[in-house]
Amino acid sequence: MALVPFDDRDGWIWMDGEFVQWRDAKVHVLTHGLHYASAVFEGERMYGGEIFELTAHTERLFESARILDFEIPFTVAQIDQACKDTCAKNGLTDAYVRPIAWRGSEMIGVSAQNTKIHVAIAVWEWPSYFSPEEKAKGIRMCWAKYKRPSPETEPVHAKATGLYMICTISKHAAEKDGFTDAMMLDYRGYVAESTGSNVFFIKDGAIHTPKPDCFLNGITRQTVIKLAREKGFEVIERHIKPEELSGFTECFVVGTAAEVTPVSQIGEYSFTPGNLSLSLMDDYAKLVRRELVAA
Ligand code: PMP
Repeated sequence: MALVPFDDRDGWIWMDGEFVQWRDAKVHVLTHGLHYASAVFEGERMYGGEIFELTAHTERLFESARILDFEIPFTVAQIDQACKDTCAKNGLTDAYVRPIAWRGSEMIGVSAQNTKIHVAIAVWEWPSYFSPEEKAKGIRMCWAKYKRPSPETEPVHAKATGLYMICTISKHAAEKDGFTDAMMLDYRGYVAESTGSNVFFIKDGAIHTPKPDCFLNGITRQTVIKLAREKGFEVIERHIKPEELSGFTECFVVGTAAEVTPVSQIGEYSFTPGNLSLSLMDDYAKLVRRELVAA
């Protein structure tokens, strides 16, 4: 399939309060966000005309900006509305939604207090991050070379572009070796998260997941924990050592893009997608489409 570059498509992008033609949504090469990673973003999904947890995502965008020391020059309600309007303007009811905010070109040194803050929202069709075959069998992962840094090293709770540098390098290395993704340890050597999703493990009917004290506490992660607890499963958030993986029978990763995706391998450890992972995968799919009927 030929790749259609993301800057050469039809449609509309919301930029700084108005709609611009997709191909005209440009920034200058001397943009602070490009040089110094002063940019924060979100990844959301619209299902059947509704963006799942829209306000939670918008609030995280604002919080990420605050952590990077800038204020988004709109209200949360305005950005919520702009996300919905961008889907409507592009005629999409099932879409991936990508808001991004960044510092502009007024200053181009490390200091950037007087830069204009820009915001853009693009939406496109993006059916599944992992293919249905991969999802059924479980994805294969290797260990990433890089570790999630300490909260003293970088602003770990911001969804900031700069934090993805080690994710892209790690994912490329994984794909080069035939894996789908890479699992990252944290700076202490505990299991942290994949390059774009959070991870869960199952042992004896209980669900274990790493404590998000140095990585993103994903909105999907919080949703899945709630779903599992509502179904009566025990969910334990704790530090997990890599060698403990031999004791887990099932594993899955979760995220807005990944949704709930079973994992069959992480490095030397194997898992078999089982009933619990698959039922949470189904429940999440129903919840986001507002089809989940309360028990
Ligand atoms: N960790 C990383 C590094 C991510 O990029 C994402 C996707 N935003 C997640 C976790 C999951 O977050 P969410 O469920 O909010 O999409």
